[in-house]
Amino acid sequence: MYGVVTRNAEEVEWPEFEVGFYEVKDVTGRAAEPLPEAINMISCFGDTAGVSSDPDLAAVDADGNPATREQPYFDWSHVCPTHERYREGLLEIVADAAAENDDVRLDDVGFPREGYCRCDRCDRRFAESEYEDRGAWRAAEITDFVGRAAERIPGRTYLTLYPDPYPGHLYERAGIDVERLAEHVDEFVVPLYDTEYATTYWLETIAKGFESLLDPLDAAFSVELYAVDVDVDALIGATEVAETYAENVYFGYDASNAAAAVRRKDADERSGVTHRPES
Ligand SMILES: [Zn+2]
Repeated sequence: MYGVVTRNAEEVEWPEFEVGFYEVKDVTGRAAEPLPEAINMISCFGDTAGVSSDPDLAAVDADGNPATREQPYFDWSHVCPTHERYREGLLEIVADAAAENDDVRLDDVGFPREGYCRCDRCDRRFAESEYEDRGAWRAAEITDFVGRAAERIPGRTYLTLYPDPYPGHLYERAGIDVERLAEHVDEFVVPLYDTEYATTYWLETIAKGFESLLDPLDAAFSVELYAVDVDVDALIGATEVAETYAENVYFGYDASNAAAAVRRKDADERSGVTHRPES
């Protein structure tokens, strides 16, 4: 099935889409009230405004560099995932969203990159933990957070993954232990964004990689495509590749263009036209 990802409340109920994801907290820190008719989306540890107003929230590396958008590699600022007060605040946002709609999607879950976080609190929590290995400790922190969030979600728990299915990469980068998270998550969402989709072999490679990773765990996954200003035929081609591997396809941030693609694809299927991606 098809869905839309949007910041515009009125778009979540458009008839072309079976589900609508609505951002109630995004990576900039912008907040909105959750909607009863949407699957509300929460950017968990990505929060540029939060870190700007309280720099102590930022995850840091061993040299004390904060994971903020002023640094190389980061498009937004990352909160340290072990910050208790921030985590409690997130769990309240999750509960508020779940009070409006049973299904909730968690975005930006995990540590920002390899080498994070080395703040005093993380050093202390690791030292006091049962773990010898820092990687295992990081993953346990993230799994614990997701488990606590999922307890507050009566319906379907969605979780967004950074699009790297290579074995071990998510674990080393973010502390994402997909196998353990699958116990709490009903559907993983993988954003595979491009501004043109002029080629799609990479989309197929990554989607197939996630199929290999998640199928043995019996975990559902969907692909989210970027719809803004993408040529409709190219978007249809990308959709056909994505849905070969993924359960559902969601379209980000241009509901009109996405709706046009869904309508044309339906019409073409009825009249027997196929959109094979060029290879
Ligand atoms: Zn930390």
